[in-house]
Amino acid sequence: MKNEEPVVPAPRKDSRSPRRHPHGTMNTPLANIRIVLVGTQHPGNIGSAARAMKTMGLSALHLVAPERFPDPDASMLAAGADDVLDAAGRHPDLDAALAGCHLVLGTSARRRHVPMPELSPRQAARQLFAAAAAGPVALVFGRERTGLENAELQRCHAAVAIPADPAYSSLNLAAAVQVLAYELRLASLGDDAGQVSGSVPRPGPEEPPATADELERLFGHLDQALADIDFHKGKPPEMVMQRLRRLFLRAGLDSREVKILRGILSEAQRMARLAGGRQA
Ligand code: SAH
Repeated sequence: MKNEEPVVPAPRKDSRSPRRHPHGTMNTPLANIRIVLVGTQHPGNIGSAARAMKTMGLSALHLVAPERFPDPDASMLAAGADDVLDAAGRHPDLDAALAGCHLVLGTSARRRHVPMPELSPRQAARQLFAAAAAGPVALVFGRERTGLENAELQRCHAAVAIPADPAYSSLNLAAAVQVLAYELRLASLGDDAGQVSGSVPRPGPEEPPATADELERLFGHLDQALADIDFHKGKPPEMVMQRLRRLFLRAGLDSREVKILRGILSEAQRMARLAGGRQA
């Protein structure tokens, strides 16, 4: 967790994790996340970036001194995302695009000689999403040829680097927007979607999670069933039971899944009894 320290503290009253909004992104923090493109050279990239944003529920596009815009290439590559293009803010400089933003992160393909914290796309997305509950935040992208200037990067609270192959680390501008937009989407869908590993997956909302006592009864049943089918062949059962416990706890079972497993165990016990009866 230590890399996940917020680069700026979120205001107290809004630091609660925003909940999922089932119907699109109106009134969700995603609407407060500005994607700022600085000095874009190819209008096609502006269109592709708008499309990348719209697929992930983002809508606030801000353009700082684009070389050519509006432009037919931008509209063509935006496909169905012309609404994002049409609503795009246009600004003469970066400061104007960042007005009102209380968290600003700048993307960069390579390490620059600017001492500043560096975040992964996932860390950046989580922080932006959490902070966006309190007001506008920005994620800034640089020019195709030269990226962001040092002075522009210094306007940012932290840098974000997509961990690409160091031998060829520079993504196409719109592709970089897509990667970050996707991470923002995951952040907006709740913590579970963004989790990498190391925690118990929770059951879906259809079924209640298994309670601790349901699980204990499952483990007791499993222990007995393994004995009934003579699984251990005289060896002590503790080690196997420990591993099976770990396995089932990791799985994050719900009540119904516990019932199914116990049904299977009962069936195995019944078959073992039948087999035992035949042998006798
Ligand atoms: N030659 C430029 C490349 C710019 S690519 C440079 O060295 O900076 C255009 C923009 O796409 C970058 O400014 C950045 O906003 C984004 N981008 C491309 N690759 C990226 C990466 N690996 N991590 C973060 N952002 C990246």
